[in-house]
Amino acid sequence: MSGNRTFSMIKPDAVSEGNTGAILRMIEEAGFKIVAMKKTALTGETAGKFYEVHKERPFYKDLCAYMSSGPIVALILEKDNAVADFRKLIGATNPADAEEGTIRKLFAKSIEANAVHGSDADDTAAQEGSFFFAKTEQF
Ligand code: ATP
Ligand code: MG
Repeated sequence: MSGNRTFSMIKPDAVSEGNTGAILRMIEEAGFKIVAMKKTALTGETAGKFYEVHKERPFYKDLCAYMSSGPIVALILEKDNAVADFRKLIGATNPADAEEGTIRKLFAKSIEANAVHGSDADDTAAQEGSFFFAKTEQF
């Protein structure tokens, strides 16, 4: 059975444009409980570690620069089938391909500045959550 937690970030473009509240509202209205939440920022180095899986991709350097360009909001979210349901709520990586009503369709600027992150599997959700939060910060 698939797990009940995922990890998300509201990315710098969405935070700087004042879309944090609207995105959190969509997340809660979709039935996700906020288990942990923190407004913080990545450095070039910590963004590099977070996105290490993409280090051979041509967009890696730009992605790390963008993800460290301003504050982000890190979130651990809880719901049945959390990983898959959250990816459905956020929509395709490229907002041009994202379905109507998804977070990326509504708020993303481009394939890179695409408003939100969502984990792609239960194991990466757990890893990514522990990148930002200690067990004691999870309620
Ligand atoms: P995320 O992991 O942020 O939820 P995703 O799983 O939809 O997004 P990935 O393939 O994991 O997409 O890519 C990670 C991030 O790298 C994307 O969200 C986007 O910000 C950036 N990215 C992906 N593909 C490209 C690309 N072709 N050009 C520029 N940036 C890209
Ligand atoms: Mg991904």
